Amino acid sequence: NKHTQKADYVLFSKDLAEKVQRDFSLSSAIRKAVANKQLKLVYQPIIETSNGECHAVEALLRWEHNGKAVPPDVFIPLAEKNGAIREIGYWVLENAIQQQHSMMQDGLNIKICINVSIVQFEDPEFVNSVKALIDQYKVDASLFHIEITESVFSSDKPKLLQAIKQLQTLGLFISIDDFGTGYSSLSVIQDLGVNIVKVDRSFVNRLDSNGAAIVKAVMLMANELNYKVVAEGVETPEQEAKLKALGVHYLQGYLFSKPQPYTHLIKQFGPSFQS
Ligand code: C2E
Ligand code: CA
Ligand code: CA
Ligand code: CA
Repeated sequence: NKHTQKADYVLFSKDLAEKVQRDFSLSSAIRKAVANKQLKLVYQPIIETSNGECHAVEALLRWEHNGKAVPPDVFIPLAEKNGAIREIGYWVLENAIQQQHSMMQDGLNIKICINVSIVQFEDPEFVNSVKALIDQYKVDASLFHIEITESVFSSDKPKLLQAIKQLQTLGLFISIDDFGTGYSSLSVIQDLGVNIVKVDRSFVNRLDSNGAAIVKAVMLMANELNYKVVAEGVETPEQEAKLKALGVHYLQGYLFSKPQPYTHLIKQFGPSFQS
């Protein structure tokens, strides 16, 4: 029917036009997010499978724009495109390191995992800025994990390898995020000397079908290649039990806690943080 076809088309182009318009206005707004103090970090615990204790927390970025929370999956790609990610990434780094500094003063000993965009990682100044901040705030480098997604593998490998080695020499750990969603193979993990592999939530979601086989393979290699494994997006006790049976070292997901402001997290997990 011609009439509905036309209506569908109009609807589609209106949605598309709205998306383009939205992205355009968000893209210019995100440039000012740091200066306008619109960013904050929330933290999600990563649980040690063997004893249920909080092993580390992942810092996740939140942006409030015009009174509304814009999800990072929406604004990070825009910031990567327009270059704002450099300033934003530095803000994240400094804030997480500052948080670590105040935690250490409170006698708490919590590792913090920081997401770093490939755009930042490719910046030749990145490693230096990490080092400068760690020196400035006098924090222990081994309390930080840098999470990079698999997409980094598509970039210049010798440079990548160098940055990873330099960060590890400073004492930081490297995690590969969203593992299984890109094109990397487990041999890349070996080449890069990655410390931690985070199995993507999509596999945890289908442990009943082929998800379990993937996790099994990742675990087999983990014990050979000496990296630890985190399962992301754990939402049910059944998933927890299966992942535990598969020998996964750490678990992260809504089952344990949503990402929360640091002060809330401390109330819930305080005791397992005491060093
Ligand atoms: P990610 O690094 O894979 O982070 C995990 C995402 O899964 C987070 O979404 C987290 O809130 C969500 N999540 C955790 N547990 C569960 C669960 O049990 N079920 C479900 N359905 N989701 C769960 P969030 O905070 O919206 O972040 C989305 C992505 O944005 C992140 O994915 C990361 O790629 C990016 N991102 C967040 N913060 C930063 C940052 O500071 N820098 C950079 N470069 N990227 C960031
Ligand atoms: Ca992550
Ligand atoms: Ca992830
Ligand atoms: Ca992700």
